[in-house]
Amino acid sequence: MTSRRTRDRLVQRLIDNGIRNEAVLEQIRNVPRHLFVDEALASRAYEDTALPIGLGQTISQPWVVARMTEALLDGFEGETVLEIGTGCGYQTAVMAPLVKKIYTVERIRDLMIKTRQRLRELDIYNVQFRPGDGWEGWPKYAPYDGIIVTAAASELPDKLLQQLAPGGRMIIPVGPSGCQDLLQVTRKDDHFEELSLGAVSFVPLVKA
Ligand code: SAH
Repeated sequence: MTSRRTRDRLVQRLIDNGIRNEAVLEQIRNVPRHLFVDEALASRAYEDTALPIGLGQTISQPWVVARMTEALLDGFEGETVLEIGTGCGYQTAVMAPLVKKIYTVERIRDLMIKTRQRLRELDIYNVQFRPGDGWEGWPKYAPYDGIIVTAAASELPDKLLQQLAPGGRMIIPVGPSGCQDLLQVTRKDDHFEELSLGAVSFVPLVKA
C-alpha cells in the first residue's frame, strides 16, 4: 500500500488534474503520507482525498496541498514562509525542502507537539513551531515572503496581510464552511492584488 507504484499512481492523478511543478510532484512522491494518518487509515493514505486525523481535524487532500504549494512557489524568490494550521504537518513536510525556513502556527497544542516529533523523525529541521492563534500570525519573525493558511478564514485576516513582505504572496481559503474560494493575495507597493484559484473545502480557521 505504500509501494512506489501506489505513490506513482497518486502523482499521475495530480498531473492529470493540472499540477505541473516538478519539484512539488517529487515531494508528493517522496513524503510518506501514511505516517501522517492513523494506522487504520494507512491503506487509504495515497488516495487523493482528505482524511480524518482526530480532534475533528483533517489531513488535506494531496491535490489541494500540491496546488497551494505550487501557487505559493511559482516565481517565489524569498526565504521565509509562515504557515497557519500545522495540523498533522503533511503540508509542512511537502513544502519544507522547497523553502529555506517555515514558521508554523497551530492552535491545538497537543497536535503541534505530536507533529513536531513526527517531522523530526522525518529529518525535517527547518521548521519552527508555535502553539497559538493563527489570526494573529507570528509577529516576531515578520515580514514573511510567503504565507500559507490551511484552514478556512471568514475574511482576509488583517494581521496576516500586515505580516506579508512587499512582493510577498499569501495563499488562503476564504469563505463559509463547506465551500471556500482559494485566494492568492500578492502584496504590491501600496495595495494587495487578489487572484481566485478556485473552490476548495477546509475546516474553519477558528476565532479565539
Ligand atoms: N495543514 C494540514 C491540514 C490542517 S487542517 C495538512 O497538511 O494536512 C487545519 C488546522 O488548522 C487544524 O489542525 C486546526 O487545529 C488548525 N486551526 C484552526 N483554527 C486555527 C487558528 N485560529 N489558529 C491556528 N490553527 C488553527
